[in-house]
Amino acid sequence: MSNIQSIPMSESDLIVRRIKDGTVIDHIEAGKGLKVLNALEIDGKDGNVITVALNVPSAKVSKKDIIKVENRFLKDDETNKLALIAPKATVNIIKDYKLVEKRRVALPNEIERIFRCSNPDCITNSGEDIEAIMDIVDKAGVILRCRYCTRILDVNELKYY
Ligand SMILES: [Zn+2]
Repeated sequence: MSNIQSIPMSESDLIVRRIKDGTVIDHIEAGKGLKVLNALEIDGKDGNVITVALNVPSAKVSKKDIIKVENRFLKDDETNKLALIAPKATVNIIKDYKLVEKRRVALPNEIERIFRCSNPDCITNSGEDIEAIMDIVDKAGVILRCRYCTRILDVNELKYY
């Protein structure tokens, strides 16, 4: 531990310990941390250490959530699922305690499962085991369309699974 403690630490690092290898998702809007875990289907069942910090004081915004996933390097197509949940999130890939990649989340072409279709008659709401897939038909305007019933969905009214 002594070599780790010699590395200068920010306030956030003091709250959430440094990791050797893995992914740190920072600047998640406070209150969205658990939704991020759910969207990424991170449940700790693989045995890796997952650290979740909610309502961490932040200089840029008043509070934020942080998630650290040890021994997993999340790829673009995984973290881009977060574009509608945590658009300001930054994804930091850490290898041997060093930051080797830092990126923002970007809207993907489609979003699977995270949100329910708002059409009650949609097959994804029928009780059958079919999960919603939404195509992002306009990235600039953030317009989503259900692939099954083709309803255009208001991003502000989306409900989580
Ligand atoms: Zn639908």
